[in-house]
This record gives sequence, structure tokens and C-alpha cells, in this order.
Amino acid sequence: MKPVKRPQRVDPARLGRAKAAFEQLLGRDRTFFGEQDIRSYADKFAVDDRLHQPGGAIAAETSEEIQAIVRIANEHRVALWPISRGKNLGYGGSAPVLEGTIILDLSRMKAIEYDEENGTVLVEPGVSFYDLYDFLRQRGLKHWISVPGNSWGSVLGNALDRGMGYTPYGEHASKICGLEVVMADSSLVRTGMGAVEGSPTWQLYRYGFGPAWDQMFVQSNFGIVTRMGLWLMPEPESLMGMDLEFDRPEDLGPLIDALAPLRREGLLQQSPTIGNWLRAAAVLTTRDQWTDEKGYLPDTVIDAIRKKFNVGWWGVSLRLYGRESVNREAYRILEAEMNKLKPMVMRPTTWRRGEPIESSGWTGTPLTFPMQNANWHGGRGGHVGFSPVLPQSGSAAMAQFKRTYERYREFGMDYQASFAFGERHLINVNVVLLDKDDPEMMARVDPFFRTLVADAAAHGYGEYRTHLDYMDLVASTYGFNDNALWKLNQKVKNALDPAGIIAPGKSGIWPAQT
Ligand code: ADP
Repeated sequence: MKPVKRPQRVDPARLGRAKAAFEQLLGRDRTFFGEQDIRSYADKFAVDDRLHQPGGAIAAETSEEIQAIVRIANEHRVALWPISRGKNLGYGGSAPVLEGTIILDLSRMKAIEYDEENGTVLVEPGVSFYDLYDFLRQRGLKHWISVPGNSWGSVLGNALDRGMGYTPYGEHASKICGLEVVMADSSLVRTGMGAVEGSPTWQLYRYGFGPAWDQMFVQSNFGIVTRMGLWLMPEPESLMGMDLEFDRPEDLGPLIDALAPLRREGLLQQSPTIGNWLRAAAVLTTRDQWTDEKGYLPDTVIDAIRKKFNVGWWGVSLRLYGRESVNREAYRILEAEMNKLKPMVMRPTTWRRGEPIESSGWTGTPLTFPMQNANWHGGRGGHVGFSPVLPQSGSAAMAQFKRTYERYREFGMDYQASFAFGERHLINVNVVLLDKDDPEMMARVDPFFRTLVADAAAHGYGEYRTHLDYMDLVASTYGFNDNALWKLNQKVKNALDPAGIIAPGKSGIWPAQT
């Protein structure tokens, strides 16, 4: 990709003038320009703490205020980085790509409109998964939500970054139906049926008339989303399934080949995630409880971890949702297919409406304990994720696993990975658990990450999402026809946001001016 001239930071003189204007608009209690404020909006999991420093933060409460903020940003040519709750940990948290960008914190906007009959909500950016869950529980939990592994975050922010959950509604971006957006020219747009004055179908029909724009605002910097429609799953009558463990690394391939057709035909409506042996240990223990050795974990430690938690090399949970009679039949088929693979553990689970419910991602119950893995090394921890998209093929997944596992060992990192199904694809999420107090280890992270990106690109695999540090790099791997897609993104950016005020650098998209 042709190198484009990237700005180093937002111009400090312009920033100073804009801050004064923001203070005048919002008052001192909604403008955060002190050193501590800036630190609190920085990326807590940063590999290099010097990068991506915010210029400060401001908090808006209404769409009209956001429009006024956008006007000021245009006037002074300063950049804004919208966040909903700013919990995008592993991908940059609440920090911007470009140093000096003002964080536009929308976490105070917490309105929820619920259409109980049709099973939809219209949420503002500050609504967390806990907020929405509590709201629905107070109304009898007639609809379930889908939650990601860290549920402090925003329902809207997570969907806009293509977050994933565990229920049949787990591909969050695909459940969006209708957005309200403040554009860079400060106009307010409603997409789809929302463009029809007083429409009762804004959250029901995704497309409206003419081009459909919802997905244009996902992982982009083309607008500031102020409201999002989302489809919810009706509470199922029953939930059935099983937790499975498989003994050997090479069991991964046959497992994927067995699950893929079931997922594609729709017998499995939820997208299973196959994870390796470290997932329980990284949350429930710290590394020093297992070994003092640096470098990758040897097989003796892997065996000890597996024994203690009674887990396989790989584990997976499968769940069926819906009518009990249908689930029973589907369960029989699933059980027969899984038995063919000779799992070392198969634990069935069932639930019927009215019974006490398992608190887990499978039931859409918000959770935060997986975040504990940031403490694996003790001290100041964190993680970054490397997540290429693969076909649903056992041999492709095995090759990807072997290649990546070798790289983890070469760079002396502990292997934590999962293979998460979509409807037609797999995402191989590789977590790199960090110890920010170990400078020698931290120096290995960047070369390791770049090697993984290059390995994946050499096989035609691109990442589905990435940390701020790697947005340009990952965008460059989408290189068909001299980066034609990237050029299209640039053209759209320049047309919509000529002064470059919304999230410069997000997803590798830079405005002509900043
Ligand atoms: P969460 O709290 O769910 O982790 P964030 O607020 O961190 O979500 O949002 C994730 C990313 O999505 C942000 O870094 C930003 O790039 C983008 N984003 C979040 N909210 C908005 C919004 N309202 N409009 C446009 N982009 C947004």
C-alpha cells in the first residue's frame, strides 16, 4: 500500500482554542482536560504507553449537543473520538488512534426504548449490557440479550466494533436495525425506515428504500451514532446442550468438520467457540502458581493445568435454543455426531422456562470474570488479540493452529486461543496475555504480532478487528487491486468529513486533512 502522510498529533494550538469552546458549551463538569483525566481515558492495556494519548475528553448528553460539538470541532479543525462506554479493552479501550484527539464520551446517554411485542430495543450509546439486562429482567425477561466476555461495555459500542456473544444472536453487528447518526457536517440522519417521519417499522425492516447504510457506520469513522435499533431473542422455551472436552491438539480439525455442517444447516443456531486449555487457568489462577520459568509453558505445565481443571487440549460448549420438542430431537443428532469424535468429557445440560437459570454467556447473562485473565502474569496486566478470519475447514484450522502455536513458542508466549464459529466462517482469536511490568516481554509483543499478521496474510487471511496500533497494518493486508477497498474508504471519508474531525485513523481510514 502506498504510504500516506499521517499526522503525528492534533495541532496543540488548535486544540487549546477548541477546549475553550467546549468548556463554554458544556461547562467544567463535562470537560476533562487535566492530566489525570487524560490518563483515565488512555489505553490501560497499551503495549506502548506513549502512543495514542488523548487530548482530553468531553461528555455529551443529547444528539443536539453532539451536533454543536461537531460544529466546534469543524471550526477549530480538531479531531473527536466517539466512545460509548470505552471498554474496548484489547483493541485500545477508550483511547484514540491519533494523539491529541478529544474523546467524545457518550456514556451518560442511557435511554432504552423497548418494543416488547416485536422484540426490539432502541438504545443510546451509554447503555451497558448490565443496564439492558436489568431493564429486561425488571420486565420479566421476555427477551434475552447476547453478551460479550466483558459486559461492562456498551451494547451499541460493542455492535459497532463487531463484538460477539454466545447465543443465536451473537453476531451483534448483524442484529442492528436502524441507526440515528450525527454526521461530520453536523446533520442528523436516521437510516432505513427511520427516515420515514413517525415510522413504526424503524426497528423492523433493515433496509428502507434505496441504499441501506447501517453497516457503513460499523468499524468506521463516517459518523457518530446516537441511537441504535437492535433485535432481541425471544426467551426460549428450553435450552439443551453439552460441554465437551477433547484430549489431543489434532482433535481440533475433526471437531470443526463435524460442527460446520450442523452450523450451516441451522441445526446449531448459536456459534460455538472452541478454546484451549489455558482459558480456565488464566482466569482462576496466576502463572506463578504453575511455574517460575520464563518463555512458553512446557508440556509438563500444560498437563498439570489440564489435570487440575479436568479439561482437554480443546473444549467447546454447544447449546440449542427454542421449543423443547425440537431441541430434544436436535440434541439426539448432536450427541450422535459428537460421540463419533470420542470426546474425553461430555456433560449434558438442560433448562426449561421457569427453572433457575445458569448465569453465563449462553443465557445472555452479563459477565466480567473472563477479564481476570489480564492478571495471569500478576502485576499490571493486559492483552491484545490477533483474530484472522478462516473458512470453516478442519484442515485450514489445524494448519493455522500449528503455525500460530509454533510462533507463540518461538516468541516465548503462553498460548491462549479459540476458534469461534460464525454462520459460514471461523474466527481464530489468539490472545497475547501481557505483563506490563516485564519490559523484556513487552519488547517481544510488537514483532510477534507483526509476524502473525504477515503469516495470516500469506494465506489470504485478514483480521476481523484489531488494536489501534495495527489498524494501518491490517488495512494494508486488504490489498486487492492496489488497495482499491482502502481507496474507496478514503474517498467516502473525504466526501463526508473533509476536515477530518471524526476518529482519524480508525480502521486505517485517514482523512485528507487533520
Ligand atoms: P464498549 O464500551 O462496548 O467496549 P466502546 O465505547 O469502547 O465500546 O466502542 C468501541 C469502538 O467503537 C470505539 O473505540 C469507537 O471507535 C467506536 N464507537 C463507539 N461508540 C461509537 C459511536 N457512538 N459512534 C461511532 N463510533 C463509536
